[in-house]
Amino acid sequence: MMFLVHQVFKNVADSYDAMNDVMSCGIHRLWKDELMKTLDPSPRTRLLDVAGGTGDIAFRYLKYISDMEGDGHVTIADINNSMLEEGKKRALNLKLNQDSVSWVECDAENLPMESDSYSAYTIAFGIRNVTHIDKALDEAYRVLEPGGRFLCLEFSQVNPATLRWLYDQYSFNVIPVMGHVVAGQWKPYQYLVESIRKFPSQEDFKYMIESAGFRCVTYSNLTFGVVAIHSGFKL
Ligand code: SAM
Repeated sequence: MMFLVHQVFKNVADSYDAMNDVMSCGIHRLWKDELMKTLDPSPRTRLLDVAGGTGDIAFRYLKYISDMEGDGHVTIADINNSMLEEGKKRALNLKLNQDSVSWVECDAENLPMESDSYSAYTIAFGIRNVTHIDKALDEAYRVLEPGGRFLCLEFSQVNPATLRWLYDQYSFNVIPVMGHVVAGQWKPYQYLVESIRKFPSQEDFKYMIESAGFRCVTYSNLTFGVVAIHSGFKL
């Protein structure tokens, strides 16, 4: 599974950002903005963005802080060096202060970060790719300091059933075709759809987060549950 995930993101790294826009009609940007609004970071927030890929969440965080005329620092952790390299190119294009981002190639299930070292942990569209979700949650809990916040943006279960049927038609029939047409790749996008389908429901994932030790766990659905933001605190 881990090898497959690695290959998928290695293959799509250079087309990843464009495909995100095409597949979601740009809506992924609004979902990610909503994640940042939920986090509402301050210049004192020490953020670890896991499965951070090409930097979408981390760059939003830096923009949020610079809009407050503050300086922030974010650590992007990802298992795939090709995704991190694309992110570094984007950071250069955006003329970001290179000292404001640390790039760490590592597995969410086995983070090299010290315990109790971050005040916020985000993971966007990453946790469903992890082989053992419970281990990734345990690691999230470990690296957060007491009072630290866990936030996860992930595809979830669409409600009501009629909308779910329409969404299924779109994802199973349209997304792999788009992947083929736009990025010349069918299989990675078929994997993407299948991984979304296998991911636990909102309530089941909430239970998993609580089982890792997080408290005050809540979630909010966006776009009828196409995605959900789960939040929890290490208390
Ligand atoms: N967070 C970014 C975003 O929202 O645009 C990237 C999301 S991308 C769909 C999923 C990312 O998860 C990829 O960059 C992939 O390399 C990373 N990933 C998959 N399994 C991982 C693991 N076990 N540990 C860390 N990163 C992982």
